[in-house]
Amino acid sequence: MSKDFQPTPEFALELDAQDKLASFREAFVVTDPDLIYLDGNSLGRLPKAAIARAKQIVEEEWGRDLIRSWNKGWWESPARVGEKIAKLVGAATGQVIVSDTTSINLFKLVMAALALHPEKKRIITDTMNFPSDLYILQGCVQLLGNRHEIIRIDSNDEGVTPDLAALEKAINEDTALVTLSHVLFKSGYLYDMKQITEMAHRKGALVIWDLSHSVGAVPIALDDCNADLAIGCTYKYLNGGPGAPAFLYVKKSMQEKLSSPIWGWWGQDQPFAFGLDYSPAPGATRFLIGSQPIIGSLTMEAALEPLLDAGMDSLRAKSILMTDYAAFLTENLLAPFGFSLGSPRDSARRGSHISIRHPEGYRINRALIEEMNVIPDFREPDNLRLGFAPLYLSFREVWEGFDRIRRVMEEKRYEKYPKQRLTVT
Ligand SMILES: *Cc1c(COP(=O)(O)O)cnc(C)c1O
Repeated sequence: MSKDFQPTPEFALELDAQDKLASFREAFVVTDPDLIYLDGNSLGRLPKAAIARAKQIVEEEWGRDLIRSWNKGWWESPARVGEKIAKLVGAATGQVIVSDTTSINLFKLVMAALALHPEKKRIITDTMNFPSDLYILQGCVQLLGNRHEIIRIDSNDEGVTPDLAALEKAINEDTALVTLSHVLFKSGYLYDMKQITEMAHRKGALVIWDLSHSVGAVPIALDDCNADLAIGCTYKYLNGGPGAPAFLYVKKSMQEKLSSPIWGWWGQDQPFAFGLDYSPAPGATRFLIGSQPIIGSLTMEAALEPLLDAGMDSLRAKSILMTDYAAFLTENLLAPFGFSLGSPRDSARRGSHISIRHPEGYRINRALIEEMNVIPDFREPDNLRLGFAPLYLSFREVWEGFDRIRRVMEEKRYEKYPKQRLTVT
């Protein structure tokens, strides 16, 4: 495919003219048309539908209806919004709920999964996983008396792709749990969910998938892959807004076997009986704890609309074209300045962002943000990470973003920035 691309602005406009999803951009707030926003994989743009809904939630449901709103859709929202996300992750009804944060949901599912096989000691993950996921695992192991061993599989090629042979070798009969990010947050590598899940199941291990960087970016088929458990966040490609609650998935056949490590009244069978002893609610609902962030949940529910309308298959097709184009531009515009692709070349093994590596990546990122009106982000040690949210990004913007990176390099604009890091990169 890449041999047909042209490194010209006219070619980007041709791609835009053929883009069937182009009109979805109208569904989003764009206050500065000159801004090249390549960070939708970290915080998605604001959907217009969310503004009207947020106003209604605050003014009418909270301001006017007050506590009556719990009976007008607030109480059921974790399950109702969960069903909408279920459509994006290939889950049949009754398996996805919205709650808490990704990290907390991981904690709940790790503890529940480990309790199911207390005799098994191994937990397998990889060194490219999102650090919070690794910290949660370490905390769980400590809480359980340091009886488990965490094995971190390394990469083949400086953090780009995992060593699958080592992963397969590490999973043995003593393995309680394998937990991985479906799409790696730095390189964008996309695990084959079916293959890895089968690999773990052959040895009797459970799998928890973190979908934070894949939900809304690639089609996901949890049921079809026979996945056990999954978690993910909603403020990246789902555009749910900062701090919007996360979701969790529990396979139907496992729900009654699992116990939440945190017993709260929202996970109680009959919360309004106010009984003195806990008994778990049926299904995935038992993983709720206490009062949920309703304003953020319902705003996020509205934010899902354009994504659900566009459909994951069309989004994936555009996303692949964009990341292929970006890989082409990396090689044709930026390689002469010392950039290399830090992501898989094969689009089938890639999510919707790519990393381009450069020893001066940090300072280049700062120059782009501060004087070029381009927003990527930087991930240590040398990754300039570029996210391509297919729902609202145009090919012209992709071209323009790369051309501005080229100008930063040509004019050596990054040289005036200190190498010392800012707090949020
Ligand atoms: C973004 C992200 C998270 C975020 O966790 P929070 O609890 O929402 O802060 C977790 N895991 C992965 C893989 C992520 O990409």
